[in-house]
Parts: sequence; C-alpha cells; structure tokens
Amino acid sequence: MLVRLRKNLAEAEVSLFLALAGELGYSARFLDEERELARLDGPGRPDHRSRLEDCHAVLQVLDPGLARELHLRPPGGPDRVVQVGDALFGGEHVSLIAGPCAVEDPARTLEIARAVRARGATVLRGGAFKPRTSPYSFQGSAHAGLEVLGRVRREAEIAVVTEALDPRDVEAVGEVADMFQVGSRNMANQPLLSELGRQRKPVLLKRGFAATLREFLLAAEFVLAGGNEQVVLCERGIRSFDPSTRNVLDVGGVAWLKRHTHLPVIVDPSHAAGRSDLVRALARAGLAAGADGLICEVHPHPAEVHSDGAQAIGLEDFSILASDARALAALDGRSVVQPGRVSARVPEKIPAQ
Ligand code: PEP
Ligand code: MN
Repeated sequence: MLVRLRKNLAEAEVSLFLALAGELGYSARFLDEERELARLDGPGRPDHRSRLEDCHAVLQVLDPGLARELHLRPPGGPDRVVQVGDALFGGEHVSLIAGPCAVEDPARTLEIARAVRARGATVLRGGAFKPRTSPYSFQGSAHAGLEVLGRVRREAEIAVVTEALDPRDVEAVGEVADMFQVGSRNMANQPLLSELGRQRKPVLLKRGFAATLREFLLAAEFVLAGGNEQVVLCERGIRSFDPSTRNVLDVGGVAWLKRHTHLPVIVDPSHAAGRSDLVRALARAGLAAGADGLICEVHPHPAEVHSDGAQAIGLEDFSILASDARALAALDGRSVVQPGRVSARVPEKIPAQ
C-alpha cells in the first residue's frame, strides 16, 4: 500500500501512524525525506485500508496494493457472470427482466409472466413489498404477493426477482425469489445488505437515486464481504434538477462501472424515464454503454397498473425492446440469453419430510 500522510506532522503523530501500521502487520518505509509518503508491506486487506484511512495522520491511501476491495476489477480481469434461473448476466451474456411494478392478482401475474417469457424475458420482476415515497401509496401485497410469485414461478417456469425491504423479511422472500432485489431507497440499508451477504442467492442492487458510484460500489461490498459473490448492479437513474424525466439515467456511470468492477451491471430504463415513451431510447442507451441486461416494467394493460402506471410499456413494445437488445448485444459480440436455456428448471422447494 502507498499512503500519503499530512504535512508537518508532529513526531508523536507519525509514531502513532507507525504503531498502527505495525499493529496491523505492516512494515512501513518512508519514500521521501519529509516523511509524507509511506510504503506499507504486509497482509493487504481492505479493512486495513479503511483503518489507515481513519487514522489522523493519513491524508489518502494512494495505492491500495493488495488491499483491494472485492468489487474491484483486477487489471485485465474477467467479468463475473451471475446466473439466475435461465438468465446469465455478465461476460458475453445479456438477459432481460420484465414484469409489473408490483405483483398483481394471480391470474394477471401469470398472464404477464407467460407473455414476457414468450417475448424473451428470462426473469419475472414484481414487488410484493413495495418501497414507496408516501405512506399513503399502495405498499404492495406483502406475503400474499410472495405466494402469488411462488405459484407463477412454477407455472410459467420463469425465475423471479422481488424486493426485500427489511432484513426480517429476507427468509420469506428467499423462499420464493431466485434473486433478491434491493431498491434504490434501501441501497444504504446496511443491516439488509449484511443479511443478504449471508444468503447464497443473487442480489440485484439498485443504485440510490442520490448515491455516488463509489457509495454504490461500497453498498455492493457489504454483500460481497459477507461471502455472497452474486451481486448484479442496477443503474436506475439519479436525481436531477429537471422534472422532464423522473430521473436521469447515468449512462456514463454504466460505462464507468463496467471498467471499475467485475460485477454485472444492468439498466432500469423504466424508473429512469418515468414515462413509457422514453423507455426504449434509454434501454438502447444503457445496452450501448455496456449494460449486461435490462429490468423493465411491462404490463399487458398499462392503463390498469397499480403503481408506476406512467412508465409501464405494453407487450408489443417489450417485443421491440427485446429485438433491440439482441441487435445491440450482437454489435459487441454478445448475445441475449433466451428462455428455456437451462433444461433442468429452477428446483422446487423440497417439502419437509
Ligand atoms: C421498483 O423496481 O419497482 C422500484 C421501486 O425501483 P427503485 O427502487 O429503483 O425506485
Ligand atoms: Mn416501479
């Protein structure tokens, strides 16, 4: 590790820094006469980096050396590929997630699942626990919604992603979901992230609408540090001053993330746009920037949607979007994973004997 110290430190402050380095198992060597640049050789762990960053004498860790955070892409390192049922995210694989904002009644949810699967989606989305800005908005159908998702998952043979809002719900959500969703409003919910770090199922982590990319990656780090390596990042738009779109899709951020992390990155054009007529353009922009997939709100009757009605696209528009995705993926030598790829379907929950 290469560490820059503050200027004009007192002898005692330098000693405290050296003592901390020694305590963590590093030998320290100053590279300049002013003793502002130190080289530390030792175990190289990300938590050691953080301890040093918190030290009064330290201005900055210039080069973490071996103390690399788990989300970082090693120079020239490959993509992590995350599998969810039939879907693969990362590397040469692009996958499509589609469905309603919130779980609907059982028949309608099944109809949507079959319709989006027939049009190229490998994962069904739909919130049972809905994070809403107002306590008076529809909050989702909670456990009843999970039950619907479980049934639809079996009948339509499609993997399911749904949101957990609270660490106490992770177990129940995990019984039906193939992938946990963490919503934008919960990106920094550390107890939830730590609980998901203990799970062995993929996590779809959405970027907080006012989070920097570094904060986004450190939220992912909570899950990775817990031992769960299957994290897919989702850029869903960040807040701006302009109300013309609900959020601003950070296309540059997608390209930046693809360089800095080995984790797959997908784009949510629905919440970024907030209006159905812009969803196709944003989906195309996200894929062109290197996104490994899309999550999109799709409904056969957008006028009847329970939440986020303005941004749901119809089935025909989803077909067009899927065909765009195939064309854009092919431009980069990638391909969109088709439903039915995995012959052995996602296993049923084995009933207790
Ligand atoms: C959602 O996916 O329905 C949702 C609430 O998204 P976000 O957390 O990005 O607002
Ligand atoms: Mn929504």
